Amino acid sequence: MRVTLVNGAEVSLVSSAPNAVYIAYHWFNADGTALRLDAGRFAITKPIVTGSSRQYMFPIAVPDKAGSYILRVTLVQEWVRWFDENEVGAFADLHIEVPTQTWWTDDTRHSVPYGHIQALNRAALRPFLSHGGLCRPLLPHVETVNICNLKCIICPYAEMTRARETMPMPLFEKIVADYCDMGGGDVVLTPQVGDVLLDKALVERIRFLKRQLAIGSLGFVTNAVNAHVIPDADLEYIINACDRINISVYGLDEEEYAAMTLRPNRYARMVESIQRMLKLNHRCQLVIAARLLKKYEDGFIRNWMAGNFGREFPYEAVTSFGNWAGAIDTSKPLPFDGTWAGPDLAAHLEEGGPCAYPILHLKVVVNGDVQFCSCVDYDSDAENKIGNVTCESLSNIYNGERARRLWRDGLRMCKGCTHRRPIADFVPLARLFEHPVRSLGV
Ligand code: SF4
Ligand code: SF4
Repeated sequence: MRVTLVNGAEVSLVSSAPNAVYIAYHWFNADGTALRLDAGRFAITKPIVTGSSRQYMFPIAVPDKAGSYILRVTLVQEWVRWFDENEVGAFADLHIEVPTQTWWTDDTRHSVPYGHIQALNRAALRPFLSHGGLCRPLLPHVETVNICNLKCIICPYAEMTRARETMPMPLFEKIVADYCDMGGGDVVLTPQVGDVLLDKALVERIRFLKRQLAIGSLGFVTNAVNAHVIPDADLEYIINACDRINISVYGLDEEEYAAMTLRPNRYARMVESIQRMLKLNHRCQLVIAARLLKKYEDGFIRNWMAGNFGREFPYEAVTSFGNWAGAIDTSKPLPFDGTWAGPDLAAHLEEGGPCAYPILHLKVVVNGDVQFCSCVDYDSDAENKIGNVTCESLSNIYNGERARRLWRDGLRMCKGCTHRRPIADFVPLARLFEHPVRSLGV
């Protein structure tokens, strides 16, 4: 943008102390409501003396969404005032049309497996969801182990008919190599069901990931209980190699924890394990994901953290649980205050349009099966399987005919699923895709 600044004041304008003046701009919607205030500042490096003028050229960041906007260019005197305020009134408004910035056209639509979903047809998504002309998920979820040490009543793990096993290392290396060929990025090691700290090869796998230049941040979800059998040096390495670990806490006392996990006497071990993890952590963001049967006030949860861990840290707490796309019998009430998310929620989520899970993650389970829905398929439903990475590349699978058919026709298990995350909720977050593990979670 080119701006001519004329100084009609009795003092010089310059971006230096004590009250530096900067050129700045805001974005407003066409109806005058604020969209982005203080959207950018530019320095006036040489003083503009009274009565003189100077021309500037600087880049501006336009709104992500196509539409009509008002761009206001003004000045700001740091810590004193904005010059577009009433008493000064020095600003210029421009009406700007931001054109639709699409990812594909009618001619190129066929190259994108979900080319019929207009909500995804945005240029801002393309760098994160494609590589070398082919589509890719935001990041893979690799299930390196599908064995769990708990039997939570909100989870179908106990019903799983898949063999309970650990992923062979050569298969893991093939998945990582395929992902690097797709452009690489962040990796999540959260099992579909199971706990990653039961994976005896976890340290070796993380060391392998860390040697790959194309791999970014790492993270996973764990119930933490098994940390007690991992030696200090290994646990310290695992935690500090990750950027984010969500610790699932299934109760804030022994009674609640046992009712939720059907494993008595694990509560104290969970608390001790988190204490150890905190002691060994130097850099990883640890987040408590509390899956609770009793309702607590925020202050109670904070006191629980302070009492057990000597500090508070980020947490989210829920007492309402999803139906795993119908795999759980939600007609049985949950103990205490726990509730099941009902069909009303499923219907409401369905109105939001297609689900984002197949865009955000690609789930590869222990035997190399690749799943279209990365969220709820605990038992590898044949309909949800889009390939197996032992005989095909991840990219071929993700861009293949089977995945395209599911995008087109939909998955039966989506009907009535309370885990749906509508695509429309994620499209405005495109900028957060840059660091998915850190900004969108694990
Ligand atoms: S919810 Fe997680 S920790 Fe609980 S049984 Fe299922 S997989 Fe295991
Ligand atoms: S709606 Fe449910 S079953 Fe369908 S993709 Fe989303 S999470 Fe999976």
